[in-house]
Amino acid sequence: MIKLYLLLGGNLGDKRQVFLEATALLEEQVGRITQQSHIYETEPWGFESTDMFWNQVLELSVSISPEEVLERTQQIEQQLGRTRKAQQYDSRIIDIDILFYGDQIISTENLTIPHPRIQERKFVLVPLNEIAPELTHPVLQKSVGQLLLDCTDQLRVEKVDSEQ
Ligand code: ADP
Ligand code: MG
Repeated sequence: MIKLYLLLGGNLGDKRQVFLEATALLEEQVGRITQQSHIYETEPWGFESTDMFWNQVLELSVSISPEEVLERTQQIEQQLGRTRKAQQYDSRIIDIDILFYGDQIISTENLTIPHPRIQERKFVLVPLNEIAPELTHPVLQKSVGQLLLDCTDQLRVEKVDSEQ
């Protein structure tokens, strides 16, 4: 079994419902969820928007290949994009990015693992650090905790209240 880390992101629709459905579909189609961070509300990165983003990092235990993970997570993005309330949106209401697949380094046309922008983004590092501070980035050879200390991203990343 391989430890897989995924980042969920979204800023449209009923985010709590979408994240719950994504988690359920991942467990059904990708693998057992072994850890999950809190959900964080984060300022949009790289553009202005009034809709705050939500992000969450999940750890799964998987036996499928990284290519299959990509295929299934993309299917789940599509499945959720078509759910009732979301029909008016043409952008996906959920983005699922593969952060790490064990300590493998993959660079193909469709897939770059570790995800190339982990170290630049607090909205990835803050939730990741919550569940895997000691994890070593196989390319940068630094722990997630160290990457967070080194990260100069200034955008706001705050826990979402569970009652919200
Ligand atoms: P973004 O995540 O940058 O907003 P998309 O979710 O549309 O954009 O992804 C674009 C492409 O990125 C996907 O079709 C996929 O093939 C590719 N990709 C490369 N590496 C990864 C990765 N680690 N996780 C997810 N997608 C990836
Ligand atoms: Mg993506």
